[in-house]
Amino acid sequence: MHQTTLALTGPAPDLPEGVIFRPNALAANEQQELAEGVFAVTAAAPLARLRTKGGGATSAAMTNCGQAGWWSDAKGYRYVTANPATGQSWPLFPESFLRAVRKIAADSPWPDFAPDACLINFYEPGAKMGLHQDRDEKDFAQPIITICLGDDADFLVGGFARTDKTKAFVIHSGDALMMGGASRMLFHGVRKIYAGTSPLPGVNGRFSLTFRRAL
Ligand code: FE
Repeated sequence: MHQTTLALTGPAPDLPEGVIFRPNALAANEQQELAEGVFAVTAAAPLARLRTKGGGATSAAMTNCGQAGWWSDAKGYRYVTANPATGQSWPLFPESFLRAVRKIAADSPWPDFAPDACLINFYEPGAKMGLHQDRDEKDFAQPIITICLGDDADFLVGGFARTDKTKAFVIHSGDALMMGGASRMLFHGVRKIYAGTSPLPGVNGRFSLTFRRAL
């Protein structure tokens, strides 16, 4: 008997220089363990849309785990070692997070990547992330490794200026995306969430787990 192979990823997307995309980096059971880890983190450090300096709020809801967490408020963007919303330290990395990021980094140009922060973004259908660079970390020689859970999304990668042309490609639950080296400072964002495409029970929307070396 032949086993049916589902064409989940389609043709390889035409990726910008230096962006490493690993479709299906994590199996269904690994994704489910990560989702359980996310729920443990959000129980201790609830997701919230963060204020921005301009007076608005982020479209995605956010929280963090690890030694440091990314934060935005009227004072601007920065990493903080305690959650300003609760006054408590951020939750530790769940074991499933450590296993997943180690597995992905092992087969990358950064096998010794040791993240100290994971920003968890939650995108409901309709949420997006405008083009930005990740530039609040101390050492830009360290990559940012993203794991996708839940709904499919259109990811945008541009150039080193906000106005540069962007390329879009679809990212799915279980995919990993790495921006480091030549691609570390590329503008990037999330344009669209495909509602109802999440393969994970209990996940309605998209979580991105973005592992950083912040401090
Ligand atoms: Fe980013």
